[in-house]
Amino acid sequence: MITEVNSQRLAEDIVRRVRKVVGKSKDMIPLHIPEFTGREWELVKNCLDTGWVSYAGSYVDEFEKDLAEFCGVKYSVAVVNGTVALHIALSICGVSHGDEVLLPALTFVATANAVAHAGATPHFVDACEETLGLDPKALRHHLEETATMGPNGAVNRKTGRRIAAIVPMHAFGFPVDMEPLLELSSEWNIPIVEDSTESLGSTYRGRPCGSFGLMGTLSFNGNKIITTGGGGALLTDNEALAKRAKHLTTTAKRPHRWEFFHDEIAYNYRLPNINAALGCAQLEQLPSRIEAKRRVAERYAVAFADLNGARILKEQPGSFANYWLNALIFDHDRATTRDAVLAALNDSGLMARPIWTLMHRLPMYADAPRADLTVSESLASRVINLPSSAYLAGAT
Ligand SMILES: *Cc1c(COP(=O)(O)O)cnc(C)c1O
Repeated sequence: MITEVNSQRLAEDIVRRVRKVVGKSKDMIPLHIPEFTGREWELVKNCLDTGWVSYAGSYVDEFEKDLAEFCGVKYSVAVVNGTVALHIALSICGVSHGDEVLLPALTFVATANAVAHAGATPHFVDACEETLGLDPKALRHHLEETATMGPNGAVNRKTGRRIAAIVPMHAFGFPVDMEPLLELSSEWNIPIVEDSTESLGSTYRGRPCGSFGLMGTLSFNGNKIITTGGGGALLTDNEALAKRAKHLTTTAKRPHRWEFFHDEIAYNYRLPNINAALGCAQLEQLPSRIEAKRRVAERYAVAFADLNGARILKEQPGSFANYWLNALIFDHDRATTRDAVLAALNDSGLMARPIWTLMHRLPMYADAPRADLTVSESLASRVINLPSSAYLAGAT
């Protein structure tokens, strides 16, 4: 039986092990801090010196080009954040009012919100213990049980709504098992829009996350692996979709030297040049940042190797994770210890927090359709994140 004394002992043990990884520090060690160790000052200064801080300027084009190349896709469109990137990606991949979109219940709220912003209803599916991401086997079973093939694609038999997209999310940078998911997508003719906002630089069977779906999305929020302050991007190999994304995110203005002619109701979601300048400088450091992240992860793996009661999440064979955030997963019979461990870590100046509240536990999504969520429910009570900043690779 797990007693309180037991829990306290495990909590203290975990604090010691985390401390061994992150080194000594008088200050609170955050989960992840932004690091500006490259040409950020120079490129941002260029924007200020020239006045090209906003809509026009060359850094947006350069950032988009570099991102597309890094992510192994033909096109990238930079936008103001990852949430709108998802919203626009869903819309132009055909999601509209009255549709349903399949996504994991275990995700950050932005994934579900973007579905709602596109006018659709989120339909939550279960996660996989090994990747924390969407479980293709469970999804296959769920589709067989609840969906039917109609003239316009897959339909939820219970609600009568069209199932317009599947949105896998690579949690903390750990790739979802994409191959069986791609098979499902083609069998059911449901496009995949990847929420790859946490997985820039991660690969699955050698291919970058974000390059598998009809479109992929990125975020450059302050807490992500690289940051532009706030920012996001859409990724695609499809030229028409890329053009459509650019058009919709830039007020649908027809190019002209002086006329203001807009051909539909659109959005002002374009990433400002000053943020793109930060992005260009950050992207140059991404390969070394990922190496550093992986060294931090390796230190956690070593420090926790012989621990009973919890394990450090590792990439699956064939996958390469950016290890954006390290995750500690308690054994099933240790879920009750989680809060004692969170308290002990935070009390010791080591920032730690639980994984997200499941989406159907949030008031606005309580009535959304959902599959059996047994694994998600369990993971939601057993996963915490540990300090994972790149600079910790050099901690002593
Ligand atoms: C960060 C993130 C987003 C997008 O976030 P923004 O803050 O809007 O850039 C979307 N989904 C997930 C899973 C995220 O972690």
